[in-house]
Amino acid sequence: MNPSDLYKAALGELQTVLTELIYKAYFYPTKVGDCSESTFEIVCPSNHVKDYLNKKFYGLLKNTLDRIGNGNYQIIFKVDEQKVETKTDDLPLFVPAKIKESASRENLDEYNNLSQKYTFETFIVGPSNRLAHAIATAITENPGKVYNPFFLHAGVGLGKTHLIQAIGNHILKSAPKTKVVYATAESFMNELIEAIQEGRNKNYIANKFRNKFRKADVLLIDDIQFIAGRGEATQEEFFHTFNALYMAQKQIVLTSDRPPKELSRLDVRITSRFSSGVVADMQKPDVETRSAILREKRNQMRAEVENDVVDYIAQIVETNIRELEGAFLQIITQAKAEGLAVTKEYSAKVLGQVIPGKINVNINEVLKAVCNYYSIKMTDLKGPKRLKEYVLPRQVSMFLLKKYSGTPFMAIGDLLGGRDHTTIMHGSEKIEKEINADTRLRQDIVNIKRTLNINVD
Ligand code: ADP
Ligand code: MG
Repeated sequence: MNPSDLYKAALGELQTVLTELIYKAYFYPTKVGDCSESTFEIVCPSNHVKDYLNKKFYGLLKNTLDRIGNGNYQIIFKVDEQKVETKTDDLPLFVPAKIKESASRENLDEYNNLSQKYTFETFIVGPSNRLAHAIATAITENPGKVYNPFFLHAGVGLGKTHLIQAIGNHILKSAPKTKVVYATAESFMNELIEAIQEGRNKNYIANKFRNKFRKADVLLIDDIQFIAGRGEATQEEFFHTFNALYMAQKQIVLTSDRPPKELSRLDVRITSRFSSGVVADMQKPDVETRSAILREKRNQMRAEVENDVVDYIAQIVETNIRELEGAFLQIITQAKAEGLAVTKEYSAKVLGQVIPGKINVNINEVLKAVCNYYSIKMTDLKGPKRLKEYVLPRQVSMFLLKKYSGTPFMAIGDLLGGRDHTTIMHGSEKIEKEINADTRLRQDIVNIKRTLNINVD
């Protein structure tokens, strides 16, 4: 398949799993550049698209291309130099397509930048976020009067952007005339720099900027940690914006990836203000909450996946909600491409590949290699019989899968004919121990690893 056909096929597939907005804004305007055996170049219309794709979709794109093209590509994103001037970078991320088409840069400035998908209705509440959610809803009933400012902190992918935007969306729904301004701290800074440049010769900060931020009724600034350690001008302007709004009893909500006292590079005049309102955090969700969240996502996507499979995925991906969603998306995409149903077994297989930080080996190939090496059948490897000639290969499989595919014990259990995760754990640990004393076993494993191209030293 030539690169252009391969890319077309990949896009066709991605289109079915991404939201229309994301697809249209990011994937649709790209094209194929120079490709080789091992590299795949994608030409983007702007830096923003390039960075966004690279940051959020590298894995998904690579996986899709590798699979369809049966290769192992390094993806290179490049910006189309001729198009950079069109300034698509300035468009907010989630402008509905209709608005985006008709909007010029000027009338976007009034636009509040909120994504419709982040609402309270789609925000699942559990022990990990109950307090933050309660404060957020209370604020929407009485903006500026209670809990002001509201400082929300949580690790990456735990729902900060969702919750802060839900506040904005809800206020706009019940009082459409409210001037709600949402910005990331990064775009606050970028807009400020632009405003300073515009006013450079006249020695003022362009009014447009101040009108936007200082006339807000509700100011929502996401990822405030970004401002810490930035130039004095940014911190200073933020401080004055904050003060002006606070004095006027306007609602301010800030999110951060860490608590106020750990924002050490932020001016204390600013951090001390944060603590004068209310500070709340969100923790990693427990397994029940993760299940509830993933079931909600499944319903939104209208994906046909049974509850028990959804719950299984939620059980395994513990890191954060973004990764949980990402893993789910990956499973659905791959299953669709292969024309297979999303079962627990299938999910386990994909999860073994996507859970980050481990060497990527193909699970089925590991099992096949073990069967070949010990001359046993796959059905016996996975089967119930506890004969000695099956038990050892089974334990070696457990060990290899755990060590080199990063597959969680529970998933390995499912792959090996529905065994309990404690069985897998013991099996894997047993080999890990014996490998030191038993030279024969050690050599067996080295040999199997060689057939799998796993580094043997
Ligand atoms: P953060 O801004 O903290 O990095 P996001 O708000 O972007 O995280 O959340 C990551 C993803 O997880 C989003 O798609 C969001 O909709 C989803 N998410 C987070 N928390 C919840 C929740 N409580 N209920 C439903 N979806 C959630
Ligand atoms: Mg965020």
